[in-house]
Amino acid sequence: MKVMADIFKRMGIQGKILLVFTVINLIATTAYTVFVYQLREKSVLEEVDARLQVAAHALPLILPAGYLDQTVQDGSRLSDGDYVARTRSLYAYSRQAKLQYLYAFIEHNDHVVYMADAASDAEIAANRYGHYLEPYPNPPLALRQAFQDGQPQFAEYADKFGSFRSYFLPGTRKDGSRYVIGVDIDISDVQSRTREALRSSMLLGGLLFAMSLALSWPLARGLARPVKDLLSVTLKIAEGDYSARAQPVGEDEIAQLAQGINTMGESITMRKEAMLKQLYIDELTLLGNRPAAQDALNQALYAQHSGVLVLVHLDRFRSINYLLGYAAGDQVLQAMATRLTQLAPTHNQVYRLGSNMFALMVMGVTEQTAEALYERIFHAVESVPLTINEQDIDLSITLGCVHFPLHGRQSGLLLRNAEGALYTAKQNQKRWLEYKPEHISRQRNQLSLLGELRRALEQDEIHLFFQPQVSIDTGRLVQAEALIRWSHPERGWIPPNDFIPFLEQTGRIRSLTNWVLNAVAKQLAVWRAAGEPLTVAVNVAVHDLEDPEFAQRVAFALQQHQAMACDMCLEITEGGLMADPAQALITLTALHQAGHPVAVDDFGTGYSSLAHLSKLPVDELKIDRSFIMDWNPQNRSIVVSTISLGHALQMKVVAEGVETADQYRELSALGCDIAQGYLVSKPLPLAEFNRWRAAHRDAHSWGG
Ligand code: C2E
Ligand code: MG
Ligand code: MG
Repeated sequence: MKVMADIFKRMGIQGKILLVFTVINLIATTAYTVFVYQLREKSVLEEVDARLQVAAHALPLILPAGYLDQTVQDGSRLSDGDYVARTRSLYAYSRQAKLQYLYAFIEHNDHVVYMADAASDAEIAANRYGHYLEPYPNPPLALRQAFQDGQPQFAEYADKFGSFRSYFLPGTRKDGSRYVIGVDIDISDVQSRTREALRSSMLLGGLLFAMSLALSWPLARGLARPVKDLLSVTLKIAEGDYSARAQPVGEDEIAQLAQGINTMGESITMRKEAMLKQLYIDELTLLGNRPAAQDALNQALYAQHSGVLVLVHLDRFRSINYLLGYAAGDQVLQAMATRLTQLAPTHNQVYRLGSNMFALMVMGVTEQTAEALYERIFHAVESVPLTINEQDIDLSITLGCVHFPLHGRQSGLLLRNAEGALYTAKQNQKRWLEYKPEHISRQRNQLSLLGELRRALEQDEIHLFFQPQVSIDTGRLVQAEALIRWSHPERGWIPPNDFIPFLEQTGRIRSLTNWVLNAVAKQLAVWRAAGEPLTVAVNVAVHDLEDPEFAQRVAFALQQHQAMACDMCLEITEGGLMADPAQALITLTALHQAGHPVAVDDFGTGYSSLAHLSKLPVDELKIDRSFIMDWNPQNRSIVVSTISLGHALQMKVVAEGVETADQYRELSALGCDIAQGYLVSKPLPLAEFNRWRAAHRDAHSWGG
């Protein structure tokens, strides 16, 4: 039973339906066959009985009139020859009527005796028949019953003549006694006819069973098909083909289920698309994100396309967020996205990789045509200021560029190389750079330099250089800037831009700043003791400015060497002011109160607003050297407005990067206060600086 149940469980829906159909079919055809057989058997018996009855009623008519009424004594009139002739004619009749025997009995001397009988010639010859008035031994019960109550009887019985179905029809003789007519039919005749009925009924049943079995096959298939269809759709969905749909037919439960599965498939598709969107789309700008960019790059590489990937870094974004708020910062990013998208031929070639980092992928750009593309990018982003909350913002960007497949055949490598180019561009204050292998090796070198810094500080590999700053009016030295150099035992002189930004990023700048503060304080004390005091500017890193103890660290260095605060100017970059403006204000105020002059370095490259600047205790503005060195009308007007802004706020204005006499004269004409640059002197080691100082005591006209 359990095995059957297991097999049933494992069967498919079509098999199950077929099995159920077959069982029902079997029961129905069996019942039908039995019913038909019973009907036929009944009709066989009825027909037999009718024949028996007809024959019984016919017997008195076959016999001579009054034959059955004659008294036994009259029997003497009956010759043996007459009786036998009658026996023959009765037999002939019974054969005609397809019966076995016809006979008649009366009761005589307490015996049932023959009055007539039918027998074949052979039987007559063998003397096997009921002779006139011969007693019939052991008459069957039905026969006796017929004599007793005068009612006709049917019976089945066997005697020495055979086995029969018989009919006993009683009648009354003239003398009031009874006679009984009997008719026999061979029971095997009846049985063969009922067997025939059984056979034909079973044949019919079998035929019906086969027919309905043949019909149930397509029916079961038709019923199972929608379920199978649903199953295949569900399996497809389970395998990830969410576009698979069922075809509901009609309105039954299966059609409703199909509808349900379709709805489920649709909602899975929608959710998948939403998830993909989240995975590949930057929500703020609706541009593709970093994974999307990597995908697109890999696809382009796979399809053997060539082109350029440009990383577009929005400069000074932290200041925008600080000054205008994060909502405005978001608007700036969205505007960037719009400007870049309008530039790209198709929408999906612009991506946002990170906070203020975008990427542009343009196919078909060669090394010859790339520069024109960069200029178009600068033009699209920088040419028109952005107005947010009624405030104009000049966007500025730096680009890091790679050509593919030239600079890498894999998206990760290309992005890394582009970042290397971008990083180097920022360090070297370039607007854009295309990748060169040394960008990456330089960064690796910087990483290894980090580990060597401690040794460098201990073993005097770091040197202080001094660069003179002269009054533009008189040409005389007014102060100097302290700039460090690393004399590496293997790599020679390493410029500060190659390791300071790295130290800043990793938070290791503090020990270097302490070293510079000490070295400068020591030298300040030496010069003051020699009666030649000089103000020296020290560069302060963003990290230092964020340190609440920075003012104390400066005071400690001065105290160590008995130096004076007024001799040490502190240069803070514009970006440094904006990183943590609240802490910057506290630190600068403390330094200023202690007597230090304060200068804002690289002015013009950040976003310090006039309002903000006026709150800070600043004594000097140092115009970034990029404005002086690239002397175009736009930069000139920036220089003009910086000078007038500085003067309006009672500040001195220093111009960095003055390399030519022309620049010097221009600055002089514009009223700039101080000049610093190669025209006057490169940064010099202490001994050389002292010599330079001695040689340039008099007023001098640097502008020729
Ligand atoms: P900075 O403070 O703006 O220093 C001025 C830079 O301009 C110096 O580069 C100087 O050599 C260079 N310079 C001066 N005049 C000219 C010129 O006429 N033409 C050109 N092309 N360049 C000129 P340097 O010494 O390579 O320093 C680079 C930067 O490294 C400095 O920029 C400063 O930000 C940083 N730095 C240098 N020393 C220190 C330090 O002790 N501490 C910190 N935190 N930063 C330092
Ligand atoms: Mg400086
Ligand atoms: Mg500078």
